[in-house]
Amino acid sequence: MSDDAEAVSNIIDGRALAKKIEERVKERAGAFLKDVGSPPRLATVMVGEDPASQMYVRMKHRACERVGIASENANLPADAGMEGALDVIRALNSRSDVHGILVQLPLPPHLNERIVVGTVDPSKDVDGFHPMNMGNLLIGRERLVPCTPHGIIAALDEYGVELEGINAVIVGHSNVVGKPLAGMLLNRNATVTVCHVYTKDLKVHTLCADLLVVAAGVKGLVKADMVKDGVIVFDVGINTVGDKIYGDVEFDEVREKARLITPVPGGVGPMTIAMLLQHTLDAARAAEAIRRCHDGNK
Ligand code: NAD
Repeated sequence: MSDDAEAVSNIIDGRALAKKIEERVKERAGAFLKDVGSPPRLATVMVGEDPASQMYVRMKHRACERVGIASENANLPADAGMEGALDVIRALNSRSDVHGILVQLPLPPHLNERIVVGTVDPSKDVDGFHPMNMGNLLIGRERLVPCTPHGIIAALDEYGVELEGINAVIVGHSNVVGKPLAGMLLNRNATVTVCHVYTKDLKVHTLCADLLVVAAGVKGLVKADMVKDGVIVFDVGINTVGDKIYGDVEFDEVREKARLITPVPGGVGPMTIAMLLQHTLDAARAAEAIRRCHDGNK
């Protein structure tokens, strides 16, 4: 193999993996429609008009359209109060045609994110942020789990990476990425180290990593001298400079040492959206199974 071909082959193509997952979801969504008579449906809830949030919501709806999942968005005004937001979520909870509910974060500061997210019916919580789903994850019962960590696990599965016993180092301990990913890697018997902004010497830890996941939101945080040869790197960071997006890892230099590495953009991002689609389908199938069980018992 030429040097060039070898260098290209260590890049994890998140777009290609996401497409593969979307194809599977599309097939399952078609089967669901045939079987049930209506499509799986995702409802997003957005408060205010933050341009980045609007873009993410649009991307999610477009993705739904590609795979045959129906979708709708409830857009509340920026000054909506808690009761208004909770009423919208309770109404979606009670609708049997809505299988997935996603609250686009961040919410405006006057709204209590924890209460809003905690009001979503856990069986429709396709983002996996509800405390019940988080708790289940921690005790090894992965039902609806957060999409970004799930996308990383799905990519590792696709590449046949054996997780048992490996040293996995995560940089970032947020509820969205670092903490749930730590739980999912522990569930697969990896040895997990979680670093964060208070970690004293980051390099001491990253140099031990067989698998390194960086989710700090700091451009260029991880450089080549911080990783060992053969490391697998997932760069979750999104750092916008002008009209360009960068990750948290110095891609070109770290790629020279890595066995596998995700680019930014085109790595973790597309996988995250693909997992949201998969979760919506999973939630729809689970709801339908329960409905049939209830009907059978009548
Ligand atoms: P967050 O701001 O909630 O958490 C950041 C974490 O990084 C914290 O644990 C913090 O302690 C740690 N950190 C910050 N600076 C550090 C440093 N210098 N050294 C070590 N640790 C440091 O962030 P988040 O929501 O987890 O997101 C992290 C990044 O990932 C952001 O850039 C975000 O945009 C991106 N993100 C991408 C996706 C995707 O789908 N691609 C999904 C979620 C988040």
